[in-house]
Amino acid sequence: MIEIRIHGRGGQGGVTAAELLAQAAISEGNYAQGFPSFGPERRGAPVTAYIRMSTEKFHLREPIDSPDVVVVMDASLIDMVNVFEGMKAGGTLIINASDNMTARLQEIATGQSINLARVDASAIALEVLGVPITNTAIIGAIVKATGMCDISSLEQPIEKRFGRLAPKNSAAMQEAFAKTTIFGDASVDNTVEEEPYSIDALYSYKDLEIGAEITEPGSSEKFETGNWRTSGKPVTDFEKCIQCGFCWLLCPDIAYSKNDEGYYNWDGRYCKGCAICVVECPKNAIEMRGEMS
Ligand code: SF4
Ligand code: SF4
Repeated sequence: MIEIRIHGRGGQGGVTAAELLAQAAISEGNYAQGFPSFGPERRGAPVTAYIRMSTEKFHLREPIDSPDVVVVMDASLIDMVNVFEGMKAGGTLIINASDNMTARLQEIATGQSINLARVDASAIALEVLGVPITNTAIIGAIVKATGMCDISSLEQPIEKRFGRLAPKNSAAMQEAFAKTTIFGDASVDNTVEEEPYSIDALYSYKDLEIGAEITEPGSSEKFETGNWRTSGKPVTDFEKCIQCGFCWLLCPDIAYSKNDEGYYNWDGRYCKGCAICVVECPKNAIEMRGEMS
């Protein structure tokens, strides 16, 4: 059996990728599942999908806790979500990332005792499809790195799913298949127990008491929804600010707090980039800028 967990963002098509791969595997006479984990249904929010495939019949239905393969459709997620949680040593990380991230990814893969396959699926999707929807490109990378099915077995599911857009999606898949770089064994001592790569901020369902009982005050502070942000960040020009506090009052995520001088500091851990503060500021003192500015 091979178990694959896909980490993506809402709108990137990770769930579709899982379904198409499962259909291809079934068409070859295997047993397979492709299914999502239902979380916040929002474009840009982290989402998880799973593929389970075997030559033998199986009855498992639960989400995959110990994947052989982890697929990351958006490289920014590795700093936000514990994509390596439960991953088997000697497994494979397949990631959509540009070439200039290779050294860092190799370092991470070595630290996690896993192998690495990298493809710039975003660049391929933009070039072939004209939009940054990477699901069919990432399918090509998964097939190349895992050999879970023949690449030709995807043609029919893609045709059925995408109709007149099927040729372009098939081309994106084929190009990613050709361009996926597989890095060999990370050559680490698997007897060394590595701390999982994680951030402390998020609860999983396993961390909650039965009945999802809240047992400590202020626990919602730990849900750092800022990692959903994809539309840039608000930046305040304090020269224009009159300290009215509208940004603090109207921000749905309480991302502003008053400082000792009476101005309002922004906290990116909670801002999801809705731009309400930008629209509501009476002095136009706040503007959205790119994340790196
Ligand atoms: S809404 Fe604008 S003017 Fe008012 S406190 Fe915030 S930044 Fe300053
Ligand atoms: S962009 Fe939205 S979430 Fe972020 S600080 Fe402004 S109002 Fe709050």
